[in-house]
Amino acid sequence: MVFTPCALDFRETSMTAAHILIVEDEVKLARFVELELSAEGYEITVAHDGLNALTIARESNPDMILLDWMLPGMSGVEICRRLRSTGSKVPIIFLTARDEIADRVAGLDAGANDYVVKPFSIEELLARIRAHLRLKTQDQDSNVLEFEDLKLNRLTRQVFRGTRSIDLTVKEFDLLEYLLSHPRQVFTRDQILEQVWGYDFMGDSNIIEVYVRYLRLKLEEQKEKRLVHTIRGVGYVVRE
Ligand code: CA
Repeated sequence: MVFTPCALDFRETSMTAAHILIVEDEVKLARFVELELSAEGYEITVAHDGLNALTIARESNPDMILLDWMLPGMSGVEICRRLRSTGSKVPIIFLTARDEIADRVAGLDAGANDYVVKPFSIEELLARIRAHLRLKTQDQDSNVLEFEDLKLNRLTRQVFRGTRSIDLTVKEFDLLEYLLSHPRQVFTRDQILEQVWGYDFMGDSNIIEVYVRYLRLKLEEQKEKRLVHTIRGVGYVVRE
């Protein structure tokens, strides 16, 4: 496993300008939206047809897609469905002239996050964009658990104390992730066994002590302050 020695990498996406893909075959409208969004500081890519849009979406991994409904090559709904079918969670806002209820439902079923009905005001579109980018950032942040100098990334399964990366086994990681999900909250041994080892765990309940010992050895290897504490007779807690 390759560890990045720089803890700043966790936040990289929220510091750079969001990249927005505009998919719109009406060239004038696409240009207008592009200029407005560029003026707001977003990084913009424009696609005028469906197939091109799908390729760009897959290759450049934008932070958001503004997607026209009726497009040459492939419809907006189909693009949306295909992206979702391969696991993409990119926020998608439909730009559509059709405001019938049935179409909205079809779009939402395909995995769209929101709608803006043409003709729309640019202020309304900007507000929706900001709202969805904010949700996306919160979502990413919830994948990083932090307490004091201890940092755990649920997606990359990396753990750091300061800039020192720590190599944990699967169970050590799961145990730390659970304790770190609510710093200062005491978890009982039963809760830990159930959450980390599963309901059907039949082994020795001393296993928690054993794993806490491993964890501390790794987390305190450079004589760092203890963060995983034993609450005698009850369980364990992450605190100062
Ligand atoms: Ca169109």
